[in-house]
Formats: sequence, C-alpha cells, structure tokens
Amino acid sequence: MSHSANSRYASDDAKWAAVAARDKQADGEFFYSVRTTGVYCRPSCGARLARRENVAFHADMAAAERAGFRPCKRCKPDEGAQGARHAALVTAACRRIEAADVPPTLETLANEAGLSPHYFHRLFRAVTGVTPRAYANARRAERVRDALPAASSVTSAYYDAGFNSNGRFYAKSDALLGMKPAAFRAGGKAESIRFAVAQCSLGALLVAATSRGLCAISLGDDPDTLVRELQDRFPQAELVGADTGFERWVAQVVGFVESPRIGLSLPLDVRGTAFQQRVWQALRDVPAGETASYAQIAERIGAPRAVRAVAQACASNTLAVAIPCHRIVRNDGAVSGYRWGVERKRALLSQEREAQEAREAPAPGDTVTKGKR
Ligand SMILES: [Zn+2]
Repeated sequence: MSHSANSRYASDDAKWAAVAARDKQADGEFFYSVRTTGVYCRPSCGARLARRENVAFHADMAAAERAGFRPCKRCKPDEGAQGARHAALVTAACRRIEAADVPPTLETLANEAGLSPHYFHRLFRAVTGVTPRAYANARRAERVRDALPAASSVTSAYYDAGFNSNGRFYAKSDALLGMKPAAFRAGGKAESIRFAVAQCSLGALLVAATSRGLCAISLGDDPDTLVRELQDRFPQAELVGADTGFERWVAQVVGFVESPRIGLSLPLDVRGTAFQQRVWQALRDVPAGETASYAQIAERIGAPRAVRAVAQACASNTLAVAIPCHRIVRNDGAVSGYRWGVERKRALLSQEREAQEAREAPAPGDTVTKGKR
C-alpha cells in the first residue's frame, strides 16, 4: 500500500507485465478488461491469460463498469476479502461524512480507515465513482433539498432511513455509481444521451442511455410523447439517435420487458436520493411473479414508518420493469397507480404470474430466482 506502488504500473506495458505475471501486488492498483468476454478482472486473476489486443486497462472499477464491463466471476474484483474490506471502509467513511455537519478532512477519513490519504482517496473513488469531497458536497445539497418540505415525521423517518447502513447496497459499486444526485451533475457539461423507440406488446417503448448506463425505460401510447418527456427530463443533454451498438441494447430491453424473468444485464444509470436508491434496490429484490406492498418495502429497507415516502420513490422510478415498481401493490393487494398506465401494470403482473404458474412444477433448481438478500 505504499505510494510508490502506484508508479510501478504507470505504463500499459508495465500493467500488462503485471497481468501476465498475475502479480498480486498490482491488485487494487488497476483493473483490466477483456473485450471478448466482456468482464473485468484484478491483475492477479487466475483465468487463462487473454490476448493482449483484447485487453484494456482501467484505473478503477467504476471506469471498467462505465466502459460496459462486468466484474469477473472468477476473481470477483468487486468483492472477496479485499473488496469486502474496502467496501466496508468506504461505507464507514460515507456514514461518517453523512453524519458530520462539517465534512471531515481527507486526512481524518484516511486516518480512521488506517490508510494513507493518497490510497484512501483512490479507494474511495474506485468504490463510489466520486471523490470524498464530491460525495460530501452532493450529500449536503441533498440534505438541503430533503429538508425543504420538512413536514414532520415522515421526512425525519425517511431521513433516518436514507442514512441507516445497508452494507449490501453500498458494497455494490454499480448501485453506488448511480448515486450522484442530480444536483451533483447539474453543474457539469451537457451529456449525450442515446435513445431509441421500439414497439412491444405494451405499446411504445423508449430506451435511453448515458455513458454510464440505461437512464430511461418508458412505456406509452405515443412515441413522440415519450421522446418529449425524455427531453424535459434532460434539458441540457444532447439526445442522439441510436447507433447499431445501441440497437442491441434496445433489443435486449424489449426482450426483457416481454419476459422479465430472463433478467437484464445492462448497466443502469440510476439517479436519485439515497432514500430513493434504497427503495429501488428493494424493488429489484422482488422477483418476477411476486408482489409486495409499500409497507413491506418500507419494512425491508428498515424504515417502516416511511410508507408514503416509499410510494413517492416508486412513483419517481424512471426505469420501467428494470426497477420493477409495477410489483408493488396496495396493502389489500389492489393494483394501484402506475406511471406508465394502470392497464400496463395489470398486464405486466398477469404476464409474470402466468409465467410463474407455468413454472410451478419446474425442474429442480429452477424455482429460485435471483437471490433474496
Ligand atoms: Zn478475473
């Protein structure tokens, strides 16, 4: 963890040499991706050595994920002993920043983590995608915003909820990557958003993505309305029509909307407050074919009194089906409102139920969908 470790892997040649040697010392210093497999690895990954021409290097996990790569299942660059420890350190630092009225200095944070400021700064960035200072600023802006309609116990309840620790959520860097609140980006330069409209069984389907991942999946009757809504939501952005690479994404999304059980492996650029993120993560844990109530979701995120805030977060979801807010129903089981139309919600639910029933006597090992936490 010395400072000099850094410069040892300064050039691509040096990085490649480290990869070829499966140099454990290089772990954490950079990551490499393999174009042909779509994954990224720690330098010491034990997998068969990829061909040099298919390999690219990334300073951190965030960069590798932004470039569209998934963590390798073998070396698990996003977890494992070191990854988990790092995530825990960064999570602790996040909590510390959130709890402080005056943001702690980098030195203080690094000290508490038992790391050098230089290394801590880089680690924080690798896990969250932003620097500690940017994180503190974003949090403060968010706090101010949340405090505005300070209407009492609901606000304070969800305030508490947003800041309760949820290790799993924070340990998942892709979730955290999307964490930059809108305010954080407002000052940034206009971004470019690719989009396309397709037809699916539920009507028109708009799919849009930033460089970080899908930022909108919306459903409607009229494609023009969907595009206008996208423009309203990203007034600064340059909207660009789809290229061939993006068509593949759209095709994947259409397939996924038609049959959510197959899952969606595309990265999501999820933007919202810490509380909204927690709700959306909980929604993603509700498997296709099942439903949950707002109260249950509030319970699951450890904020049982924040039912209304949960409902609001569901209503603010901009990624139809990928964040399955349609699986949330009223306490009595009745199908309540849906941003993209109650009829579509009903259709999605009955389609998922039917698929579930068709599988009710399935092959062994087939019943469990994606993991409960
Ligand atoms: Zn690997």
